[in-house]
Amino acid sequence: MEIKTLDKLPEKIIIPLRQHRGAVCEPLVKKGDRVLIGQKIGESKEYYSSAVHSSVCGEVIAVEESAHPDGNKAMSVVIQPEDSNESVPFTPCKDLKPEKLAEFIKESGIVEHYGVPTHTVLKPKGKKIDTVLINATSSEWIGGTFKTPKEYASQVMDALKLLMKAAGAKKGAIVLRDDDKESIDAFEGIEVDKKKLRVAPLVGSRKVGYYYREQNSDIVVLSQKRIYGKRILNFFTYNVTGRKVKIGCDPTDVGVAVCGIKSAKALYDAVNEGKPFFDTVVSVEGVSDKMEYISVKIGTPFKDVIDHYGHTGDIGKIIANGVRSGVAQYTDQVPVTKGTTRISLQKPEEVIRDESMECIHCARCVDVCPVELIPARLAVMADQGRFDECRQIHVENCIECGDCAAVCPSKIYILQLIRYAKDAIEMAYSDMPAKESSNLKLGCGCGGE
Ligand code: SF4
Ligand code: SF4
Repeated sequence: MEIKTLDKLPEKIIIPLRQHRGAVCEPLVKKGDRVLIGQKIGESKEYYSSAVHSSVCGEVIAVEESAHPDGNKAMSVVIQPEDSNESVPFTPCKDLKPEKLAEFIKESGIVEHYGVPTHTVLKPKGKKIDTVLINATSSEWIGGTFKTPKEYASQVMDALKLLMKAAGAKKGAIVLRDDDKESIDAFEGIEVDKKKLRVAPLVGSRKVGYYYREQNSDIVVLSQKRIYGKRILNFFTYNVTGRKVKIGCDPTDVGVAVCGIKSAKALYDAVNEGKPFFDTVVSVEGVSDKMEYISVKIGTPFKDVIDHYGHTGDIGKIIANGVRSGVAQYTDQVPVTKGTTRISLQKPEEVIRDESMECIHCARCVDVCPVELIPARLAVMADQGRFDECRQIHVENCIECGDCAAVCPSKIYILQLIRYAKDAIEMAYSDMPAKESSNLKLGCGCGGE
């Protein structure tokens, strides 16, 4: 798989100071400042935050609100890049003490693709982590940034050890996709604790604990079916460890930290090269049949990535992070963030512009929901601002797969409404003003009863 890079610098780089959920960073630079590659440009004293760095060398031309791929706006540092590779000095940190690693991860700006600072997953306040899992089931071996499968295997294995050290966890596992033969081959036979590693399949009751015992090792590599969705962490944790994560809780509540390939790679680079997290790989798909993987600097506008992908005609819709559960963008000037994994393009004729109609109570959304929610009811309640009731019927359990909206014959924006309710609940729902009822015609007269 070939990873491409942009052949020219964007006219401007827009780096949001909000790269994850939690505290937003304060800018450390102002208009007119010159910044270098890797320079810290935003930080927050809050624990639940992660530093932001410049991905280019250039002049800050504004610190202002800009479009964010999550559909909202965010305070951002806008930089006019110079054709220069001048960077702050990168100093490798090989002798980090475990207690310092979490702070180092925060300072290096490493976040999980599901929107959480990595150090808060490894060291959650008031909880103890005993197992670290690297979920590699939704990213091909290449992860975008490894030269060979063997390099991938050895670097991810080293990254797992660093993550375990930071978390104070005794056990760790890397979980591959069972049809990702290249990854399985790459890991098969590498040495862990002077023993040749065997990639073991997760089948039936053979969870990770079984393989720790069977292989007499605290680090194992497993394979399982691909599970879709960014918010599928609880399922993933149960499937791999057998530990049930209660409704409204996350894997850290059962002692498990789930990290992704990108954050693992970012940690490896930060420790070994001193390089903060300021670039990433996004896949671009649609319009033509090709899928491309492009390495981009954080803050690159989608337009530059799309231009590089080679599309010149009309685009009907741009979607960040997958057509099923991603967010449609209202501008191509929205920047790539640390949470951007995919840019999907739709031709004008592919864009569904059907108007939502009333719910016909077909229950298709209920049939497909993998976590046994009642999406139709949640949508009505969310639309009416009844967040407390959404919570009572477990809206937080929604893994945002988008299946309900995909099958809905009435074209109701179920997922968007559920997300609205979840966000409202997260932001202390009791203080939220009720959302104005939209014109989605969800009302079937029953008011969700
Ligand atoms: S997006 Fe819909 S189908 Fe998927 S988990 Fe949430 S409610 Fe269920
Ligand atoms: S929300 Fe859509 S899929 Fe669900 S019951 Fe109503 S019409 Fe059917």
